[in-house]
Amino acid sequence: MRDLRKSRGIRKPGAKGPDEMTKLLQVDGLYKSFGGVEAVKGVSFDLEEGELLAMIGPNGAGKSTCFNVINGQLTPDRGSVKILGQDTTGMKPHNICALGVGRTFQVTATFPSMTVLENVQMVFLSARGRLSTVHRTVSRLFVEQAMDLLRVVGVESQWARPCGILAYGDLKRVELAMALANRPRLLLMDEPTAGMGIKERLTLMKLIGKIASERAIGVLFTEHDMDVVFAHADRIIVLNHGVLIAQGSPAEVRDNHEVRRIYLGSYAR
Ligand code: ADP
Ligand code: MG
Repeated sequence: MRDLRKSRGIRKPGAKGPDEMTKLLQVDGLYKSFGGVEAVKGVSFDLEEGELLAMIGPNGAGKSTCFNVINGQLTPDRGSVKILGQDTTGMKPHNICALGVGRTFQVTATFPSMTVLENVQMVFLSARGRLSTVHRTVSRLFVEQAMDLLRVVGVESQWARPCGILAYGDLKRVELAMALANRPRLLLMDEPTAGMGIKERLTLMKLIGKIASERAIGVLFTEHDMDVVFAHADRIIVLNHGVLIAQGSPAEVRDNHEVRRIYLGSYAR
């Protein structure tokens, strides 16, 4: 596998060679059934720091199930998940979150009546056990840190507006800022650009790639829009009926016959 750290200009002081490095995420032989439905069947893959890994596949392929196993919402029937070398299989979501795993949701998860700035401040406050401060007064805490993140995601001009009146694309950016406030090492993004126009999708994904690279965050994301996937993913894994049928660079996946046949259809021509 190519050395992403080198190719994307990421270097960690004292980092070992690519083969010796502890992988950010290692998924090994995952199985998960719901009653008679085998949602995930023997899925294995790795993810490195700074890497943007797209998980694609038709509806019902098992993508969300994989995400929910990785973030601890579901326990797999078989197989293991390791995060930074630690076995997290069966751990509770908040303990996995504490290891530096952030996520964004398909449905936005902001407080609509609070401002953009307050929503991001909330994350800083809750991470440091100071949530009760919010109830007493509009907090002056973490204003600079929160504003810095709003700048990073490009919504700093909206800081004083309630989240409930934001345009959808801006709301997605606020959510990204909220995820970043937890200083994640690994970000799980189930359709981060859902509901956005194509231009905005490409812009947001490019931004996510830049942030991931700069902060050495590994990102696992699902996305229905193949233009977005092929333009911005470093690597792609393809699920079909719960089975991982292909993985590789965008070019490799695009040329894979089975992928073309079952999923990409005319796109890959
Ligand atoms: P994707 O995210 O790729 O669309 P999912 O992981 O949501 O796929 O679903 C995979 C399969 O598992 C589907 O057949 C779905 O109906 C089934 N499934 C997912 N979650 C549940 C659940 N909680 N209970 C029963 N079946 C489920
Ligand atoms: Mg899904």
